[in-house]
Amino acid sequence: MVVVIPLKSPDSGPILKCDRLKDARARRVWRGPGCIAFMPELPEVETIVRSLRPLVLGRQITAVELRRNGSSRSSHPTASRILASPAREFEQRLPGCSIESIERVGKNIVFHLRPYMGRETRLYLLVHLGMTGRLTCETTPEFRQKHTHLVMALAEAGRRDSPHGTAPLEELRWLHYSDIRRFGRLRLTARPDEALSGLGADPLEIREEEFFRLLRSRRSMLKSLLLDQHFLRGIGNIYADESLFRAGIHPAAHAARLDRKRALRLYEGIRETLSQAIAQGGSSISDFVDGQGYAGNFQVYHQVYQRTGEPCVRCGAAIRRIIVSSRGTHFCPRCQRGAERRAAGVSLKK
Ligand SMILES: [Zn+2]
Repeated sequence: MVVVIPLKSPDSGPILKCDRLKDARARRVWRGPGCIAFMPELPEVETIVRSLRPLVLGRQITAVELRRNGSSRSSHPTASRILASPAREFEQRLPGCSIESIERVGKNIVFHLRPYMGRETRLYLLVHLGMTGRLTCETTPEFRQKHTHLVMALAEAGRRDSPHGTAPLEELRWLHYSDIRRFGRLRLTARPDEALSGLGADPLEIREEEFFRLLRSRRSMLKSLLLDQHFLRGIGNIYADESLFRAGIHPAAHAARLDRKRALRLYEGIRETLSQAIAQGGSSISDFVDGQGYAGNFQVYHQVYQRTGEPCVRCGAAIRRIIVSSRGTHFCPRCQRGAERRAAGVSLKK
């Protein structure tokens, strides 16, 4: 299901015109005026990983095809901007590898690959979906979508006796990567820890004490801190707003000044929000689907995000939209008191 959100939605938030334009432009999608794209966040990426596991685990990659600009094999792949490793590495090193496991690291998908017999060291395929990346398991090798850039054929384990495979066509599955705006990244590496270095702790794994210690050491506003992938990995605009509402804390509140009680509310608010979003298969606001092509449902449960002007589900006050650290931010002015003056000074004009 595709839900189209008009840019000119009823938006009574006190936003400077230039901020509104900047914010909208950053998120405008390919469909032209009137639509917004949303970057998949932790729950959406986790949903994709969970949906792909039963379909691809244990399977062996028998072929890789990159869509190219022309008919000649020598022309550039259409995904050249997306490929963070040379195209020939995808075509030469992936066939023969089997998929041992898939995990999520922040907003990244990591495929653990076991090389074909006697071949080199272990290999990892890292996928970051950018804004409009899709990773789906299909029953056809055809490049059905105009924006499909890479297709991998996956055979059942034991069905093949060479790196290029001999499995019958009907037993194959095809993993497609498509990306309309091409902000996604595909990387092959033997050192995923290096490629993903600098990311903060996972919000679903970090312990309370560590979370409090990190909060106390940061001087930024909570909204920008939650978006900082070096602080916690995987949270973006949707879940930052929803978590702060759940905790009843103003998005512009100062991290280091949060007392223990409110810090604990935030810690729990983040974990509850993310866990419920995963249980609902993520938020399908623009065109997000999981690895099997199903849309998520958590957008129905958003309490503040993109609900500007609508009544708060707790108190009935109108949800407001402000700009914090250049990002559109939604909150309830009654349930999330405490930093209005700071917000007014830093980022909000009436
Ligand atoms: Zn409220």
